[in-house]
Amino acid sequence: MKLTDGIHYLHQNMGGHVHAFLLDDGNGITLIDALYDTDGHRILDEIRAMGRQPSDLKNIIATHAHRSHIGGMAELKRQTNATVYCHEWEAGIIEGQRKSTRVSLWPKPPLAAYYTQFGLAIGFDGHKPCLIDQSLKEADHVGPLTIVSTPGHTPGCLSFYWPEKKALFVGDVIVTWPRVEAGWAGLTLDMRQNVQSVGKLSDFGDVEIVGVGHGEPIPHGGIEVLKKLREQKV
Ligand SMILES: [Zn+2]
Ligand SMILES: [Zn+2]
Repeated sequence: MKLTDGIHYLHQNMGGHVHAFLLDDGNGITLIDALYDTDGHRILDEIRAMGRQPSDLKNIIATHAHRSHIGGMAELKRQTNATVYCHEWEAGIIEGQRKSTRVSLWPKPPLAAYYTQFGLAIGFDGHKPCLIDQSLKEADHVGPLTIVSTPGHTPGCLSFYWPEKKALFVGDVIVTWPRVEAGWAGLTLDMRQNVQSVGKLSDFGDVEIVGVGHGEPIPHGGIEVLKKLREQKV
């Protein structure tokens, strides 16, 4: 689905309305997150719908290593030979060397996301492992994006800024499903740190579009939403 020129996105109901983003800066395609194991072919179909070929996929970046964001990576890497990136803390999970950090079984709001919390609490979070080519840190660049370190949801959570589009892609730092808030409490390892990361993003100033990991993207006025959410009590 097209959000604006150069930005398409895909949606998967499982995992709490999880989203992935395809960015075309005229040189090649950069993918942010890859949905589930079975979604790789859908992402390739969307690349064709953009008038591009799978071989145009140059970069695959993970916001963080939770199952619903990384499953399709192995298949996409195999089919396109794109370079795969993430924060170094998340790399071992994506590569299958260790499991995601468990969360509490105790239900926390929003209850609509509880089945996802439950899966991460009991360790039902397997995915097809994918080798990481390169780790990322603050102020690195991939394709049109500048990398922003936004820990809290997990220690290696990354956000991405595309200045020309006034677009921020924030993974699970904020969610818009089932309501707009600074992260799901039941799946965020450090809520206080996550809200600090929202504050960091709200200082960017020039942000219209905010693409989130769960729920529909915010198409306009993103900076106002970020400023409001940085006041969220934890
Ligand atoms: Zn997550
Ligand atoms: Zn998520």
